[in-house]
Amino acid sequence: MLVAMSVGATEEQVAAVEDHIRSVGLTPHESRGMERVVIGVVGDVAVRRDQVMNHLLSMPGVETVTPISRPFKLASREFHPGDTVVRVRGHAIGDGSLAIMGGPCSVESRDQLLETADAVRSAGAMVLRGGAFKPRTSPYSFQGLGVEGLRYLAEARERTGLAVITEVMESADVPAVAEHADILQVGARNMQNFPLLTAVGRSGMPVMLKRGLAATIEEWLMSAEYILSTGNQQVLLCERGIRSFDTYTRNTFDLTAIPLLHHLTHLPVIADPSHATGKRWLVRPMALAAVAAGADGIMVEVHPHPEDALSDGEQSLTLDQFSHLAPVLREVHDQVRGFDQSLVAQ
Ligand code: PEP
Ligand code: MN
Repeated sequence: MLVAMSVGATEEQVAAVEDHIRSVGLTPHESRGMERVVIGVVGDVAVRRDQVMNHLLSMPGVETVTPISRPFKLASREFHPGDTVVRVRGHAIGDGSLAIMGGPCSVESRDQLLETADAVRSAGAMVLRGGAFKPRTSPYSFQGLGVEGLRYLAEARERTGLAVITEVMESADVPAVAEHADILQVGARNMQNFPLLTAVGRSGMPVMLKRGLAATIEEWLMSAEYILSTGNQQVLLCERGIRSFDTYTRNTFDLTAIPLLHHLTHLPVIADPSHATGKRWLVRPMALAAVAAGADGIMVEVHPHPEDALSDGEQSLTLDQFSHLAPVLREVHDQVRGFDQSLVAQ
């Protein structure tokens, strides 16, 4: 349920409400807007619901108490009507700007990473991606450079000023990854690894949660809820395609998920057309489509020599292709925003 405090509620009144929520075995989550404080109440109220609601309503400073209908509470727009803005190294994601993220699927060597980092930086990207710990379908495929890869990412960050996103595959690796990266990526295969979700949440770092291979929107948002319920609000959602009956593309890009998520949740949405399509020549049109659909950011795989890549070469853009794509993404973003704003003004 949601407790909306009145506009003039004092800090003592807010604290008293939160104390009461805790005293009945529930957890308060505060959201501070421009005017008022809204407190999300999380936990199993079940049979006590009416009693708890009545008591809260009678407390000084409380304006309304409303049940939240969605199973994902902290992720819902009901709890947090305004957009969440994720802050990374002085940049904002989800504030209406477009975050462009590029880099190789895997960090393969220092030279490969630094060359790619320089190129994506010059193209105007804000975030460098690169996997050091790789979740590969086959145990015989390249598994990533591990901590050595993390060190190259940190060096690239130092050299270019780009923020770094990289995947963390297990809870034990969270401290090492958090030390070298700015955003922790939870991969599609780990979307429902609940201990990992709690661990990345507790790190306090921004987290990008990829959609599971066959996850419904609701399952995905319930996974985001695990991270949010640790008190970490810095969560990005990444649509990277889902499994369907078609085999021509690697996955089926669920473009509808982008505006749908904006409707259901306040969390920023990133699109990954590389994993969604699996084919280099499909990345550009789908990246443009994702921006037009309202994505807050685009993550694309880029490699200096895709033909020699140790993973996902088939879907990686060349440095040159990325440098042509990035400005066009910005142009589409500006156009769509301008168009939407003129409609709102009417
Ligand atoms: C990746 O980003 O390289 C990756 C492994 O993605 P996903 O988890 O979406 O397959
Ligand atoms: Mn990949």
